[in-house]
Amino acid sequence: MIVRARTVVTMDGPPIEDGAVAVSGNRIVDVGKFDETKARNAGEIVDLGEQALLPGLINAHCHLDYTLLRGKIPPLKCFADWIRAINAEKAKLSPNDYLGSINEGFAEAKRFGTTTTANLIAFPELVPQVTPPIRAWWFAELIDVRAPGRANEIVDLAIKSLEFAENWGLAPHALFTASRHLYRRCQEIAQRENVLLTTHLAESGEEMQMCHDASGPLYEFLKSIGRPMDDCGNETPLQLFLDTIGDRALPRWILAHLNKLAESDFELLEKSKIGFHVVHSPRSHDYFKHSQFPFERLQALGFNICLGTDSLASNESLSLFAEMRAFQKTFPSVSPEEILKMVTVNSAMALHQENMLGRIRPGFCADLIAVQCSEDENAFEEILGFDGSIDWIMVNGTM
Ligand SMILES: [Zn+2]
Repeated sequence: MIVRARTVVTMDGPPIEDGAVAVSGNRIVDVGKFDETKARNAGEIVDLGEQALLPGLINAHCHLDYTLLRGKIPPLKCFADWIRAINAEKAKLSPNDYLGSINEGFAEAKRFGTTTTANLIAFPELVPQVTPPIRAWWFAELIDVRAPGRANEIVDLAIKSLEFAENWGLAPHALFTASRHLYRRCQEIAQRENVLLTTHLAESGEEMQMCHDASGPLYEFLKSIGRPMDDCGNETPLQLFLDTIGDRALPRWILAHLNKLAESDFELLEKSKIGFHVVHSPRSHDYFKHSQFPFERLQALGFNICLGTDSLASNESLSLFAEMRAFQKTFPSVSPEEILKMVTVNSAMALHQENMLGRIRPGFCADLIAVQCSEDENAFEEILGFDGSIDWIMVNGTM
């Protein structure tokens, strides 16, 4: 099949005016000017007209099991209060509610042009019951703060369900809810099974206060539910994380947030030359009113920065276009092309799929979307401005 469009945005150089992509089975086999691509390839021609054809978008951090929590929790001043509020909402839901929520989330993500998700799931036992309509990396979100001494059991149980998934990984939730033992156990298994890891790190001021000063609302809340607090009072969240995991498996980690870093953290990162994949969720960040995401400093350190929606408990939709626009509003000097990379090329790299996803290139998976485009010069700006449902999408070669 040959798919023609006014502009083809490959993420491999300038957009191709009057371009086309040849697809065979589930792979891209050719890309170029329409005339030349047509001469080199046989097959049915699909003409998308005045549209830009681009790689399907990759959401590097979401929680589709919380799709049905959209609008349920108003922004709260205190992060610990927000955790209490989401726990109260979750207590009202049944496994069937979560199942519906996940399916609804996948459908919504697809409507907004997302063809791959890095999805954290708090209920890995539901994974075998879901057939995602797009590509999914399932990260089991693991918490042992209320089950001390049971980390191994929790991880082993999750893995039994994850084995049904094509792509999976492990997500110790955060330093304040997952023990050091749970982190290390996840990392051991990830190395053994060659899978990825993700976690929430340095998200809020209260997390910094808890780790570094052994005080604040999050510290008090966790102490009250019986978390041993002896790891608090010395280090920043980043230091505590690095002390916990060592440096053997750093490239496997995708870190969500990194909003709150101390000067000593930046010094450490500069000295150690450690590199990470980082996911920023601009709209969830605004909802929580966290201090500004240190984009420029992390980028200068060579970090791979991606965008994600986080959950709809703190966001209004699963649109990565809206996420890109929110990022652009805070960081207007970053070019639209760089921003689009954060939901294509960069996210693919975080998932270790840089040779399969995130670009239109021969040999890559045929994950493509089209959006209205009337000007070739400003194709990237126009793509970021797209607001609505995608009406043409191809996932793994299927329209
Ligand atoms: Zn999250």
